[in-house]
Amino acid sequence: MAVSLLGELEDAKVLAGGQSLVPLLNFRLARPAHLVDVNGIAELDRVYERDGGVAVGAAVRQATAERHPLVGRPCPLLPLALRHVAHQVIRNRGTVCGSLAHADPASELCAVLLVLGGRVVARSRRGERTIEASALFRGTFETSLEPDELVTEAWFPEHGPDVALVEESRRHGDYAMAGVARVGDRLALFGVASTPVLADPGDPTRGLHPSADLESSAEFKLHLVRVLADRAMRSGNAA
Ligand SMILES: Cc1cc2nc3c(=O)[nH]c(=O)nc-3n(C[C@H](O)[C@H](O)[C@H](O)COP(=O)(O)OP(=O)(O)OC[C@H]3O[C@@H](n4cnc5c(N)ncnc54)[C@H](O)[C@@H]3O)c2cc1C
Repeated sequence: MAVSLLGELEDAKVLAGGQSLVPLLNFRLARPAHLVDVNGIAELDRVYERDGGVAVGAAVRQATAERHPLVGRPCPLLPLALRHVAHQVIRNRGTVCGSLAHADPASELCAVLLVLGGRVVARSRRGERTIEASALFRGTFETSLEPDELVTEAWFPEHGPDVALVEESRRHGDYAMAGVARVGDRLALFGVASTPVLADPGDPTRGLHPSADLESSAEFKLHLVRVLADRAMRSGNAA
């Protein structure tokens, strides 16, 4: 039904947790003609093992995934990252798939999907397709999803316990100025480019040209990347 509506209605947007979309609506920064609410669709409110990893449905809240036993054991980086996402009240409503579809460059979850080599399943009236993380994120708040596609699940592969998530933000719960997600010796950076990016642990700033923003200069972001990448390589815990 949600997929049919997205295909039929002109200028429709998916409403998931509403934690990013509703503020945009309030400020009239987004003015879709229709909202397709996926809350309450039982088929989408599931966490399950699949293909040697864990699949998180589109209606699963961030707080649910954070504590779910099927997530933490095979996929320890995901709950570790979720604890850095905003505040508990926001995670109680916000969804994992909503974060990925929203594609904020400072999102921890986008970096986690990328560093783990995960993927999403997108469904439309034309059928279903799988989009690898490396092909999903196109730019700031921009993905390769078509306007009529619903992300039905995000899939994260099983990985070992050697993970880290470190970031620097002005206040607890704020979006990060810069951050690093690590699994083994693979690093993904967030908050420092228009999308999350994979980085060389030996030279994490190579090829990086961050833009200054309201909180930090480009030079400071590069400094943060060096410090955080070093910390992530040495640490197995959240900072
Ligand atoms: C104060 C505050 C602080 C925050 N801090 C952080 C932070 O530190 N890190 C972080 O990562 N996030 C942060 N967030 C964002 C939060 O994690 C949101 O929950 C998340 O970005 C969007 O998820 P949602 O389910 O609320 O999506 P919504 O707000 O409902 O939707 C967001 C966008 O994604 C689209 N969308 C949603 N679900 C789907 C789907 N299944 N298929 C296709 N399109 C879809 C919507 O159409 C919309 O364009 C913060 C939010 C607030 C309000």
